[in-house]
Amino acid sequence: MTALGLSAEDEAIRERARRFVDDELIPWEVHAEEHDGHIPEDVREGQRRLARELGLASMNMPKELGGGGFTMLQQVLVSEQIGRVTNALGWCVSTPPAWAPAVCSEEQMERWIVPAVRGEKHECYAITEEGAGSDVDAIASTARRDGDDYVLNGVKMHVTSYNAADWIFFQAKLQGGEHEGEHALFFVEKDTPGVRLVREPRYTHTYPDTHAIVAFEDVRVPAANLVGAEGDGMSFTHEWFRYERLMIAARCCGAMERLIDEATRFAKDRVQFGEPIIRFQAVGHMLADSATDLWASRLMTYEVARGIDAGVDLKVQHAQCSLAKLYASEAAGRVADRAVQIFGGRGYMRENVAERFYRELRVDRIWEGTSEIQRNIVADQLAKRGVTGIL
Ligand SMILES: Cc1cc2nc3c(=O)[nH]c(=O)nc-3n(C[C@H](O)[C@H](O)[C@H](O)COP(=O)(O)OP(=O)(O)OC[C@H]3O[C@@H](n4cnc5c(N)ncnc54)[C@H](O)[C@@H]3O)c2cc1C
Repeated sequence: MTALGLSAEDEAIRERARRFVDDELIPWEVHAEEHDGHIPEDVREGQRRLARELGLASMNMPKELGGGGFTMLQQVLVSEQIGRVTNALGWCVSTPPAWAPAVCSEEQMERWIVPAVRGEKHECYAITEEGAGSDVDAIASTARRDGDDYVLNGVKMHVTSYNAADWIFFQAKLQGGEHEGEHALFFVEKDTPGVRLVREPRYTHTYPDTHAIVAFEDVRVPAANLVGAEGDGMSFTHEWFRYERLMIAARCCGAMERLIDEATRFAKDRVQFGEPIIRFQAVGHMLADSATDLWASRLMTYEVARGIDAGVDLKVQHAQCSLAKLYASEAAGRVADRAVQIFGGRGYMRENVAERFYRELRVDRIWEGTSEIQRNIVADQLAKRGVTGIL
């Protein structure tokens, strides 16, 4: 065992991811920022290819399907490194839905999931609606069985990566039948008649992937496109939330490390009043507080991952993933704010890493459940199990 209780294999994976991020991704950040998030397509393709060759792509999927078969801790270590780069350049390390192999039919695996593991096809998630954000159960989208098909209707918003996706996971409530009002999830090919892009609004970050508003108007899909059984829809979403919340915590740790590293280097070089500014206690303390935020977030995130690898109870996992996301995303926001302050006017320039992270990290307190919702989840589990039941 080495530092932080990592095995030699864990460390090797982390170092492979770190080198990939340092050598291949970080050098393209400023270009991406200056080109609406885009880099040349051949460079992007080269990054995707290398991520696959290094065994980082589809790290969450089973080896038999061509994935990495990594432990949860190893996935956290890779995500942490991915979090060190801005402009979503790290998204070349894709993670298809790990819950899929357990519930998808053979046809669904062959048509959608296995190509996603190989990086040949990409998905996006259409769950949120104008009237249903934190309250997912308030969705108004409907799925009505009609012979061998389902007919889908609804308008979804914030559909991330719609522009890069081949198919959409569409969540709706069933209309009619014995599961009336329950949730169901469907595979919908993007070019199915009735799927209409309404618009792609601009967001705070400079990413190449859009967050679209998409209308589904009498979209007819075969019953074979239903994921699992009628009424199962919410359980996949919960599993995805748990996974993504932990990976957000990991990416926030990476962002904090990068910010502290860059701000420390700057503070040692930058001279004002005849001294490097790191000698001023006000600046040194900001760095010390940031290192404390990182260390606490990292220990928490690694520990949650270890618990999942050890098979702790699902409800406990749910509460702990919320704790880690809540703590690390709020800590990362504090660290980015301090880094901008340490860089002074330079920290307000888009070519500066602190400026980019200051904008980009804000969404980590919103997506996959806001900080308030994470607190609600933790409070609910505390009420049910007590503190020793979840920690
Ligand atoms: C960049 C981006 C990408 C996204 N990608 C996707 C995607 O790919 N697919 C998808 O389906 N969705 C996506 N989302 C949606 C995201 O999951 C929601 O924005 C998020 O869950 C919050 O919902 P909301 O925006 O409707 O806010 P609301 O639910 O309207 O919340 C507004 C405010 O009220 C607070 N609030 C709400 N309920 C409570 C409560 N019970 N207790 C205390 N406070 C409460 C919230 O915390 C928040 O501060 C994305 C969002 C963003 C910004």
